[in-house]
Amino acid sequence: MKVLVLNCGSSSVKFQLVETDEASAVAGRDRALAKGIVENIGGLAILRYEAEGQKPLKETGEILEHKIAVERILGLLTREDVGVLRDRREIDAVGHRMVHGGERFKTSVLIDDDVLGGIEDCIDLAPLHNPPNIKGYRAARELLQVLHVAVFDTSFHQTMPAEAYLYGLPYVLYQRHGVRRYGFHGTSHRFVSRRMAEILGRVGDPTLRVITCHLGNGCSITAIRGGHSVDTSMGLTPLEGLLMGTRAGDIDAGIVLHVMTVEELGISEANALLNKHSGLLGISGVSNDMRALLQAESEGHERARVAVEVFCYRLKKYIAAYVGVLEGIDAVVFTGGIGENAIPIRARSVAGLETMGLRLDHERNAAARAIEAEVSADDSPGKIWVIPTNEELLIARDTMRIVSGLPPE
Ligand code: ADP
Repeated sequence: MKVLVLNCGSSSVKFQLVETDEASAVAGRDRALAKGIVENIGGLAILRYEAEGQKPLKETGEILEHKIAVERILGLLTREDVGVLRDRREIDAVGHRMVHGGERFKTSVLIDDDVLGGIEDCIDLAPLHNPPNIKGYRAARELLQVLHVAVFDTSFHQTMPAEAYLYGLPYVLYQRHGVRRYGFHGTSHRFVSRRMAEILGRVGDPTLRVITCHLGNGCSITAIRGGHSVDTSMGLTPLEGLLMGTRAGDIDAGIVLHVMTVEELGISEANALLNKHSGLLGISGVSNDMRALLQAESEGHERARVAVEVFCYRLKKYIAAYVGVLEGIDAVVFTGGIGENAIPIRARSVAGLETMGLRLDHERNAAARAIEAEVSADDSPGKIWVIPTNEELLIARDTMRIVSGLPPE
């Protein structure tokens, strides 16, 4: 089955065409036939496209709306020289990444009018993300008369117990406005934790305790028992938890009130401060990019060093806390651009956790870059692995299962 996976942002559409079916998904043999991104929709857009076994292609041109972007993507997928399809009708289904599914969507679902209404109801919870996701769906629905499936960033975390998702705020805010922890990056945490269970031969084992660290531009960490999320670091919004490229992660909520007062900030300025000017960038004053910071640190840049140190310290604190939550640990997984590539970050964030059963093998760690690999020592009771994430593949698999009438995982 050929599944088109779409991930629509406010000015971008990421896409992948994936060939998958139940047998190849179980065997891990399903793959992307083509992928790419359209950026800067609304102006002079850039379209990048890469098909299996071909040279990557880049085009620029005015693209004013998502529907035209999807039309252009379909044009490339069926173009004689670079295409991988003869006709767009070869696409069997479309899988959409949806950011927020609130409490209603606990698994991926087939999109119908009722579901669409439910996703629209979650706009209040994700005002920046759900609207472009919905726009992308509406565009694709007009162009492709097949079944469409929604896969949510939040749904994997719907198994969290109340003690993990409730904040110490008046309960009425939860009842009235859904103020609680939801968590994000669910497809990534689910993908790598499932893969970890497969590697350990413990799929379906209710006692398996895994901590997954998704470290990209946004960062989050999840405690997973028996394949189910029991706690995660992002909250009502993706602002909470680990230090990120430009987001602060955990801060004293009183800081927001204080800084808004002393700096005379309005809501949109405070929003920009917390989302765009904080985190690694805010502390270092150099960059939000971990590679650049590690480089600057090696050249003696003090604030780059302290930014990286805060990042690793916070991560270590969460790993240790989640070992407590899980009452022990079988495996820690690193993924995302930083988790998959940044050797010193992995080393620094588990240093000293030997007493909790996590012992890194430094040679293995140094050799693991963008590959699936064990990086713990043979005598480490808790395993440490690097597992590259593949959110699009998971979205394609969910879509394939749902349109085939199989139960969602
Ligand atoms: P996104 O969350 O946007 O998908 P990625 O998962 O691609 O982002 O992660 C981006 C982060 O990964 C950046 O901070 C980047 O510097 C970091 N990264 C990528 N490669 C390396 C590397 N070799 N060493 C250190 N950091 C890296």
